[in-house]
Amino acid sequence: MPETKTAEILDGKACAAETRGGLKERVSAHTEKGNRAPGLAVVLVGDDSASELYVKNKITACKNVGIESFLHKYPADATQEEVMKCIKILNDSDTVDGILVQLPLPKHLSESEILEAMRPDKDADGLHPYNLGLLLTGKPGLRPCTPAGVMTLLDKYGVKLEGANAVVIGRSNLVGKPVALMLMQKNATVTICHSRTKDLKEVVRNADVLVVAIGKSKFVQGDWIKPGAVVIDVGIHYTKGDNEKSVITGDVDYAAASSVARMITPVPGGVGPMTVAQLLANTVCSYEKRLGLN
Ligand code: NAP
Repeated sequence: MPETKTAEILDGKACAAETRGGLKERVSAHTEKGNRAPGLAVVLVGDDSASELYVKNKITACKNVGIESFLHKYPADATQEEVMKCIKILNDSDTVDGILVQLPLPKHLSESEILEAMRPDKDADGLHPYNLGLLLTGKPGLRPCTPAGVMTLLDKYGVKLEGANAVVIGRSNLVGKPVALMLMQKNATVTICHSRTKDLKEVVRNADVLVVAIGKSKFVQGDWIKPGAVVIDVGIHYTKGDNEKSVITGDVDYAAASSVARMITPVPGGVGPMTVAQLLANTVCSYEKRLGLN
């Protein structure tokens, strides 16, 4: 009988724990010398249950590494003025090093105006146009959390990017575009796919490294994947499975893909924990810079 191969798991949970451990040591070294703790302010508007869960996890993660968190919660009908006023107060606060506005915001609010109102040096999510500009021009700065988390994971597992054909499915400002830039900066040859891409399956077939951020459960099939490819699944979907139990899936058909790929991220336990770890890393970097610590 032919041997069935299974891809190596890119363990985001373990890699994120390692990052958090390093951050915890850095923070305690600073506070032991009498410095205040780093502070992350989280702005949550509305009562979306997924957003509430993400915020809860981020606040717990902050606590575990010694970052103080400040939750600013607003009802779903909060006005643009109220949220903008909150951002201004946080911009001026001496104890806030990072600001995170949990997305998506309710539709009546202008996401871009709110993100742009934030001080770029407190932009914990790395989504301010100034920080995205630094990324585009290859200069150091606060990086978007999910793409930076993906790059840390690839690096941790020694995935060779130089000269590799990297395919990114998705072109959002949050994931697709920044991850494509980061892969290019590591000298991969990058193709970005989106909803108008022709022959998507054929493009994917050419990928040595495939990053999928499309927002459609199990969209990428096993037979699209080049044997031996490295597959990064950014998607997260909560669906009801058998017995009404909640099932979490990604954008890739994991079972089929893991028998073809060389390495693959699981969902959950892949990109998700790396995103949170990068948020903490951005906050600690902002804090060290603001306080002149190294
Ligand atoms: P998004 O803003 O909805 O972008 C989705 C992208 O996929 C768009 O660029 C879209 O193309 C493209 N697309 C849609 N249908 C397609 C198709 N049939 N063929 C090819 N491309 C198609 O989503 P996002 O914010 O980037 O997030 C993507 C996924 O990642 C979601 O499941 C989200 O929940 C998840 N996510 C996870 C984390 C984490 O920490 N793990 C963080 C962020 C996001 P067009 O531009 O042409 O519309």
